[in-house]
Amino acid sequence: MTTAPRHIGVIGSGVAGLTAAYVASRTAHVTLFEADDRLGGHADTHVVPSPAGSSDPDLRIDTGFIVHNRRTYPTLLRLFAELGIATQPSEMSLSVSDRGTGVEFAGALGARGLFPTRSALRSLDHWRMLASIPRFHRQARRLLAATSSVDGPTGASTYDGTADQTLRSFLDEGGFSEHFVRHFMEPLVAAVWSCDPETSLDYPARYLFTFLEHHGMLGVFGSPEWRTVTGGSGTYVDAVATHLQSVRTGTKITSVRELDDRVEVTDGNGRVHSFDAIVIATHPFAGADHARVADGRPDRGPRLAALLRQHRAPAHRHLAAAGGAERPVELELPASRHPRPAGSPSPTT
Ligand SMILES: Cc1cc2nc3c(=O)[nH]c(=O)nc-3n(C[C@H](O)[C@H](O)[C@H](O)COP(=O)(O)OP(=O)(O)OC[C@H]3O[C@@H](n4cnc5c(N)ncnc54)[C@H](O)[C@@H]3O)c2cc1C
Repeated sequence: MTTAPRHIGVIGSGVAGLTAAYVASRTAHVTLFEADDRLGGHADTHVVPSPAGSSDPDLRIDTGFIVHNRRTYPTLLRLFAELGIATQPSEMSLSVSDRGTGVEFAGALGARGLFPTRSALRSLDHWRMLASIPRFHRQARRLLAATSSVDGPTGASTYDGTADQTLRSFLDEGGFSEHFVRHFMEPLVAAVWSCDPETSLDYPARYLFTFLEHHGMLGVFGSPEWRTVTGGSGTYVDAVATHLQSVRTGTKITSVRELDDRVEVTDGNGRVHSFDAIVIATHPFAGADHARVADGRPDRGPRLAALLRQHRAPAHRHLAAAGGAERPVELELPASRHPRPAGSPSPTT
């Protein structure tokens, strides 16, 4: 006896939704909903045509997801291998240019990057900041070692935004200088998490340090080799889409109802779609939509709505992340990540 394939709805087409849809499509009929008019979410490749008459190929520039490595992205690499996606070496480096204080330096250029100006060479604050970096690495690793016992049996960390020590409190306790915080810590967090420097210190320290440790950033040496998708991340987005049974771009899902025998989702046009199961692969639905999530099952509804509410996304503005769009202006200190320090003027372009 053959049974009809299950119907699965996936909401959101970032890497999370695409991967879920790709895996589910092997055994089920998948419909992928995406509010935007293109797939990919943060995997966003822009094509910049080469000048007329030029024989150069068009440029493909990633403005969201850019780099990965072979150490900490095993699932993504498996996806790439299955889809035949080529990758190539890239780089991950940080430079800082604070127009408010005039401090500039870059991490991956040796002494020339660390002391690009005479004033940097003469600044005690700058020397102290550089000397504090290994101390910061040691203390961060110590905090991780001390708290590893509170993680679950699977090794997955659980974080309590109110109980965990914030990065700000960790730095205060460690006696790290304001100069260190403003010119090293805030730009680093802002760069790795594409968040506002102002909010970077409010993250739970342990959460950040786990991330930095996984990515080989809690030491001066030992970084993994960073790689990027050849042709941009849009390449894998397009490849996944070819495997899916139904793709609906420009279709925002506004509510989800969990019923006894199915799940119903309603799109922005009021159309109701019915599935055996759904995957919500978006940041939390905006405000009022929570109330409408899962109202079909009073016993489950509040639980699901409360669960979704817990996953609040921090507000952040976009920072230059690709190719140093906001590099130091006067000094040529290229770096792949160059966040704008708090209080700096907005870019003019
Ligand atoms: C500037 C920047 C640079 C980054 N660089 C890197 C990097 O180099 N390496 C790295 O590992 N990570 C990087 N990240 C992080 C990485 O891109 C994200 O962690 C990852 O792409 C998130 O994927 P996601 O699927 O969870 O969410 P998203 O990519 O945000 O996808 C969610 C999708 O859901 C859609 N959606 C939302 N609500 C609805 C709805 N109601 N109905 C239908 N669709 C909806 C959205 O339109 C979106 O397309 C970067 C992030 C940013 C912002």
